[in-house]
Amino acid sequence: MKDSENKAKIKEIFSSIQGEGPFIGCKQIFIRFCACNLNCYYCDTDFYPTDIGDKTSFFDFTPHELTKYLEENYDIDSTHSISLTGGEPLIWADFLQEFLPYFNKRHNIKYYLETNGTIADNIKVVMPYTDIIAADIKLPSCSGINNSFELHNKFFKSVSEGTDVNNQTFTRKNGNLFAKVVFDEGITDEEIKETIKLAKKYDFEIILQPKMIGNSLSVSTDFMINIFEKFVSKYKPTRLIPQVHKFINVE
Ligand code: SF4
Repeated sequence: MKDSENKAKIKEIFSSIQGEGPFIGCKQIFIRFCACNLNCYYCDTDFYPTDIGDKTSFFDFTPHELTKYLEENYDIDSTHSISLTGGEPLIWADFLQEFLPYFNKRHNIKYYLETNGTIADNIKVVMPYTDIIAADIKLPSCSGINNSFELHNKFFKSVSEGTDVNNQTFTRKNGNLFAKVVFDEGITDEEIKETIKLAKKYDFEIILQPKMIGNSLSVSTDFMINIFEKFVSKYKPTRLIPQVHKFINVE
């Protein structure tokens, strides 16, 4: 099969342990795509290629080059899932449309999409292959993204109904969907209400994640528990799970 010219910019690839959400502790291969459509206040991801000149091309992978790289450098059989992360992986929908079916034919492995949950137009490309969707809900108070709920509504509608923005149906795998909600002391009752409304409408679990400053929690334990109670008293499928990878010192 001839390789295509369809390339994605990839910031880094590494094997590590998932440190967020319900799959904490699972061994994953992380593929960190460059670029993002948002610009959150708390973003700590340096997702632009740092090398310049000739070296930049190292990060441009075709689907076949990426497959070869993964097969040569990682023990895929002992890996729980491949995390497509970023940046925002859905920016690279054309690449994923080619990479996922190709890799999937060669390996029996799960795909875990870490997305900011705002690009509804592109989700149909990954849905036939994705086993786990970890989508963010960007609270305006914490992220600075003011129209986030409008974007998330379109995104979760598409995922849960299996219809694109033109109401055309697409194939989807019946996988696990949850939403990660990063919060700090600025969280408002209105944001809590809007988040629960979305979760009830589209039937997903809420994972509350207190914002970190470096390796420390940005909120007190009392504040965190109070916010958790506000959610769980109105919506039982809510869990409070701080980032763990920062405590065990892995990437
Ligand atoms: S969505 Fe994620 S990668 Fe994009 S700016 Fe926000 S925190 Fe950074």
